[in-house]
Amino acid sequence: MSVRTVEANKNHTDRKTAEARIAELRERLREYSRLYYVDNAPAVSDFEFDGLMRELADLESMYPDMATPDSPTQKVGSDLETEGVSYAGIEREARKEFAHYPHRFPMLSLGNTYNIGEVEDFAERALKTLGEDFTYCCELKFDGTAICLTYRDGRLFRALTRGDGVVGDDVTDNVMNIAGIPRRLSGSGYPAEFEIRGEILMPYEAFDRLNRERDENGEPPFANPRNAASGSLKLLDPLESGRRGLQCILYHIPVDSASFPTQREAMEAAASWGLPVSDKSRICRDIKEIEEFISYWDTARRDLPYATDGIVIKINETSCQKALGYTAKFPRWAVAYKFRAEQALTKLVSIDYQVGRTGAVTPVANLEPVHLSGTTVKRATLNNADQMAVLDIRVGDWVYVEKGGEIIPKITGVELSRRPAGSRPPEFPAVCPDCGAALVKEEGEAKWFCPDSDNCPTQIKGRLLHFLSRKAMNVIAGEATVDQLYNLGLVRTPADFYSLRKEQLLFLEGWQERSAQRFIDSLNASRGAAFEKVLFALGIRYVGEQTAIEVARHFGDMDAIAAADREKLMEVPDVGEVIADSIYAYFRNPAHLDEIRRLREAGLNFSVAEQSKDEDASDVLAGKIIVISGNFSISRDEMKALITKHGGKNSSSVSGKTSWLLAGEKPGPEKIRKAGELGVPVIGEKDFFAMLPSGSGTAADAGPDCSGIDGPSLF
Ligand code: NAD
Repeated sequence: MSVRTVEANKNHTDRKTAEARIAELRERLREYSRLYYVDNAPAVSDFEFDGLMRELADLESMYPDMATPDSPTQKVGSDLETEGVSYAGIEREARKEFAHYPHRFPMLSLGNTYNIGEVEDFAERALKTLGEDFTYCCELKFDGTAICLTYRDGRLFRALTRGDGVVGDDVTDNVMNIAGIPRRLSGSGYPAEFEIRGEILMPYEAFDRLNRERDENGEPPFANPRNAASGSLKLLDPLESGRRGLQCILYHIPVDSASFPTQREAMEAAASWGLPVSDKSRICRDIKEIEEFISYWDTARRDLPYATDGIVIKINETSCQKALGYTAKFPRWAVAYKFRAEQALTKLVSIDYQVGRTGAVTPVANLEPVHLSGTTVKRATLNNADQMAVLDIRVGDWVYVEKGGEIIPKITGVELSRRPAGSRPPEFPAVCPDCGAALVKEEGEAKWFCPDSDNCPTQIKGRLLHFLSRKAMNVIAGEATVDQLYNLGLVRTPADFYSLRKEQLLFLEGWQERSAQRFIDSLNASRGAAFEKVLFALGIRYVGEQTAIEVARHFGDMDAIAAADREKLMEVPDVGEVIADSIYAYFRNPAHLDEIRRLREAGLNFSVAEQSKDEDASDVLAGKIIVISGNFSISRDEMKALITKHGGKNSSSVSGKTSWLLAGEKPGPEKIRKAGELGVPVIGEKDFFAMLPSGSGTAADAGPDCSGIDGPSLF
């Protein structure tokens, strides 16, 4: 597959560079996925995201020893709700923690491409494996959020989101309020119980109305109808969710749920039961007919009342689908051809230069307002100086603007035939627009950076925000709070937060007794955060969440990490030269050591022993790598925490290194199969609790063992 971003084309043949790039790509893709699936606020376009994913996959196949089972290339993006404030400071709508239920059959993703040649490859492979005797069912790829409906005795019994593909959020109450989804089936011949999957969409009209209302209420707009659909589906109030004009189109019945000879017949049956299915699919016999379908809809989709982002090409015959089977993430019998984002032509009025949290300086174009994919566009990113040079862009030019998933669109081209006479290339600033430090560009980097990370306000605020974020110290505060405290000179480094008093806050604009108390309580609670969270919160370059856990566990306390040389640091699993260098350098900076001293005085956890001294932790699982699958008598998060507490390591997929597969109710069939193949022992909840010291499990006498294993299915 050949999708590439500018970044993706870099040469990573050097092992050290590849290692750093892999670490960076994983962190970025995880964060982009979280922003996209959980916050419904994507930071990059789908095209860019897919390009980065492809780059990571390429690097992992180039360096197989660096591939890990928890890499984003191996997992379906998760929309499961977790508590806490938004990491990016984006306010979320009030939403509840939904009950989670396991899917009877995993809900997978789709292999996708932007390249018609790869659709041809797909068809060729199918022909080779299946012979001549099959057809394709081509469908629109609806751009919403996936849903799985279960009907029992003809009544809508449950609606689950895709979640992480194995377990979904129960949104039945909200789905009951979506027009077009029958609570009771009509017709006859439906199975006593079956599942049907599809997409919840927000039509453009409803999307515009919602964003207008949000604008009037001073709320941030949704970036696109997909995010609006996903956000609305997970509202606390089912009536409000129903009011937002969501729509549903169903496209798949898992073959093990109700068996039909073809995809087309399954959809016809669903329609006869009163279920909303699309009337726009077509049976194609060969690649020529597929290409006709694609090219027709690439234009005709602009007249549809809802967003589509491509075409899904499925093998129509279910017997052939079975023959082709699945990878861990995708069915092999379907592929999505994705459309490139729409473009508009407008005039470049001026260029601003913005410094970001990492010090990177990004040029941003101010445009004459233009209508694009349902919204008015006034600003667009130009990425970096190289990109500006490649485009040869000048103020006054007519430029092509493209909008993917992100709020800020991109400039993709310049209409040179309309260039005004006498225009000159813009000059990229030599100094940081925020603090005035001379900008630098490191070898291999596309961006100019402000090097004065210790004094540049934007970078300082970015680090403060990272420190407080949900995955770090989980303090209830967003960008506005950090801005205010920083601008007033009350906070310069994370340790300053812990000297704040409620009385001080009450003097500031916008603070009230309740909000001030909540903030102080949240800061106090963060003193109990695990050592690995503290380590992650420091924001050491390349030390993401997982690396922080590994390093914290390996060394046990902050002093040992600070004293370690590069070789010692590289003894930690997954820590290579680049990460080791970064940690080593961090602890050689006197300002950092002073900050660490102050954080220690503030009472933060600086060792693994400290954090577990009140808990009945043990090391009975030391050295064990455990994969959990299915549902347990305690939540999956609690189960993982229990494994960590007793010295074990959680891993998300079964490999030769796995010690046990801990299977609850309805474990993932793929995992069970893989464990069998590799000879990994499968244990049940009872066996697991029996290993722990008495009193540490929550249900030593409870919990089902590995049971009913169903075959996988799509979506
Ligand atoms: P996907 O959206 O590429 O394709 C799979 C999904 O398509 C299915 O789960 C289903 O919900 C949907 N679908 C719509 N019509 C369908 C039909 N007729 N038949 C079958 N399925 C249909 O995959 P995904 O796993 O949901 O998401 C991954 C993609 O999401 C990435 O490739 C990327 O483009 C995007 N993404 C973007 C960002 C970002 O920041 N922009 C972040 C994460 C993911």
